[in-house]
Amino acid sequence: MTPSAARPGTVERPWRPRRLLVTRAAREWDHAREVMRRAALLGSEIVELPGDRFSLDLPVEPARAYAAAKQTVALVVAPPSKRRLQPIAPSADWRVDLAEGCPAHCGYCYLAGSLKGPPITRVYANLEEILAGLPAYLGQGSVTSRSRARAHEGTTFEASCYTDPLALEPLTGALAATIAWFGRWKAPVQLRFTTKFAGVEPLLALDHGGRTRMRASVNPRAFARFEGGTARVADRLSALRQMALAGYPVGLTIAPIIAADGWQEAYGTLIDDAAAALADVAAVDLTIELITHRFTAGSKAVLESWYPGSALDMSEAARTTKRTKFGSEKQVYDAATMAELRRFFEQRIAENLPQARVLYWT
Ligand code: SF4
Repeated sequence: MTPSAARPGTVERPWRPRRLLVTRAAREWDHAREVMRRAALLGSEIVELPGDRFSLDLPVEPARAYAAAKQTVALVVAPPSKRRLQPIAPSADWRVDLAEGCPAHCGYCYLAGSLKGPPITRVYANLEEILAGLPAYLGQGSVTSRSRARAHEGTTFEASCYTDPLALEPLTGALAATIAWFGRWKAPVQLRFTTKFAGVEPLLALDHGGRTRMRASVNPRAFARFEGGTARVADRLSALRQMALAGYPVGLTIAPIIAADGWQEAYGTLIDDAAAALADVAAVDLTIELITHRFTAGSKAVLESWYPGSALDMSEAARTTKRTKFGSEKQVYDAATMAELRRFFEQRIAENLPQARVLYWT
């Protein structure tokens, strides 16, 4: 699917890559064989490579190269450097990657700034090895990653930094396996994932032990044009409700908050819809994360090449430069816009979702 052909706000379920490239080393892992079995059922072309390197052979024309890359998944072994966890405040203590890349087409996608090269998805074959490395991080984490609102949740592991794990679940089953693994881990830990997809059915009956928090990543229906290939917002909220009814701690990731024309009404309706979806869920454990739209010079250049003519505003208007602790620069809304947005969200959440704990605003 080309960017222009992606139908914003529609559910494309189950997502199916056109081709799955499988390295030689990957094929030695049980999880890889499960992914290959699923890919065959989905109808993907499975290419068993003779070695561990692969060439993508993408078309020269940029739009076709983008489309081909988005339809390609490489099944590879995560090397030790990828299995060494990185801190990821404020979202969680640690980032754990089950995959890198995402099949959706969001006009602001943060992966444009963090993953290099064509936007293929890499899924990791050595899931068991990745999970086996997690107990070494138990009890560790930075102070900044543990807001007071989350101090009781133990060591937290975020699985959505470089992918949308629910988008890939029909192909991999890795999210369900990881949730079940955390369910068996009798320790103060929490797996966290956030998603713009809605296919939670395989997760509902899992023995999760309350140690996974699913968050629906949402934006108003009016802004669906920026979120091509994702599930409809109403379906995401319905999925959130189903997960809450299945006993999972849940959350809303309102991200990225976009100060486009009509934002007050659009986000007001979104918060009302979320409240309605959870209204009759008894004792729901609900958190909210609020993330405003931002971009770097690098991510802007990549996104403009992927989505030429996008209506998403990435101009200098109402922006200011923020320097990160690593010395890089990003463009965020200016102080006046930030203050107005923040006031609005704090007030509307207090009024309509009083049971929620707001974890952070950024
Ligand atoms: Fe990027 Fe998330 Fe959209 Fe996937 S769903 S394209 S990871 S913003």
